[in-house]
Amino acid sequence: MTTPRDSFQQDWQAFEQAHVWHPYAAMPAATSPFAVHSADGVRLKLEDGRELIDGMSSWWAAIHGYNHPVLNAAIQSQLGKMSHVMFGGLTHKPAAELAALLVELTPEPLDQVFFADSGSVAVEVAIKMALQYWQAKGATEKQRLLTVRGGYHGDTFGAMAVCDPDTGMHHLFSQALPKHYFAPAPSCPFSAEWDDEYIAEFRTLLQAHHSQIAAVILEPIVQGAGGMRFYSPEYLRQVRTLCDEYGVLLIFDEIATGFGRSGKLFAADHAAVSPDIMCVGKALTGGYMTLAATLATGEISEQISHNGAAFMHGPTFMANPLACAVAIASIKLLLDSPWQSRVAAIETQFHRGLEGCCGLPGVRDVRALGAIGVIEFDAPLDMAWIQPLLVEKGVWLRPFGKLLYAMPPFIMNNEALGKITAVMMEVTQAVSQNRG
Ligand SMILES: *Cc1c(COP(=O)(O)O)cnc(C)c1O
Repeated sequence: MTTPRDSFQQDWQAFEQAHVWHPYAAMPAATSPFAVHSADGVRLKLEDGRELIDGMSSWWAAIHGYNHPVLNAAIQSQLGKMSHVMFGGLTHKPAAELAALLVELTPEPLDQVFFADSGSVAVEVAIKMALQYWQAKGATEKQRLLTVRGGYHGDTFGAMAVCDPDTGMHHLFSQALPKHYFAPAPSCPFSAEWDDEYIAEFRTLLQAHHSQIAAVILEPIVQGAGGMRFYSPEYLRQVRTLCDEYGVLLIFDEIATGFGRSGKLFAADHAAVSPDIMCVGKALTGGYMTLAATLATGEISEQISHNGAAFMHGPTFMANPLACAVAIASIKLLLDSPWQSRVAAIETQFHRGLEGCCGLPGVRDVRALGAIGVIEFDAPLDMAWIQPLLVEKGVWLRPFGKLLYAMPPFIMNNEALGKITAVMMEVTQAVSQNRG
């Protein structure tokens, strides 16, 4: 006799598809999700027994791969002490130790840490810090932000309001969002020669509206989910100078770029520029738990806390000890590894392995920076066709819009990465033939 539970064991995927939302998906999702049984190293094992080489690092996060013994041990050891306690009125060593690491590694003079529970929340916190800073200074008219097009900063309302209004996936809500200022996307490529024209419109906007602008927010060097574009470090230096000139704070969203992804520990390091506020997330815990942080300078925290005023934010799961413990272990593991040479080798292999896609019909651009490889097409990809094809070929990639891209765990060897670039190449040829 089969009990309802037995049949659930068999039918759980059907139930899941009918009842569980997926990111940016219809209910049920237009394409069925693939069920993962377990993951180890750079491989995902599906319920049907197939193995996929993971080219996504679970959206920038799993930089050390999966089921890592060091990270597992860190969580297990913390679990035996406590998995969580409230952070209001209480504290614990994992929070302090993680904060010490973040203060040490992020650009000077960021030395105050607010722990948030996701990247989007870290962005909300950064925006609130900027607004509270100016209120404390009596500049109450500074309520707007300036950002660049092509950005992505998360899915909550404050974050949505600074995502690209067109590619940012949130136009449905545009009437409900606060109105901010948008400069054109930074268009000077990463290693191109600088021309002051590249910053002209940004400067004009700042000149005209700085009295209402609390902060500039942008993703340094790499615009992620808004288009996977890489731009010149000189742009950041110009932005820093202009922010200082016009009395505007600078927020860097390093949620995607932090912890080595772009070839430097933080993307800001390419330009040797320090923001006033910085958000980290995603790879912070090596992809094990959800945790993010917003760092700020002492000047900002002093202003906000003038006369003992409180900063007005405090999530229930703030500074979760399990997440802090695994983040500490992940950062130490990264620093103790030859991550610079690994990331540089991945970049070289992307350049070589994807070179053959340049100039194919339908391909607009092929680019790589750090452990990020991107093929941009001139029309959106057909996900219903391409996603199962990628899985059939044994790799996990999740294209979006016009982009087929990979950002593998740093531990991936030549052979596995060779498989990923070969599949990217094959699929690009197929797309190209369909178009041609
Ligand atoms: C992913 C991302 C966010 C949002 O982080 P969540 O953890 O998904 O809320 C914000 N900014 C950037 C640059 C990101 O890549």
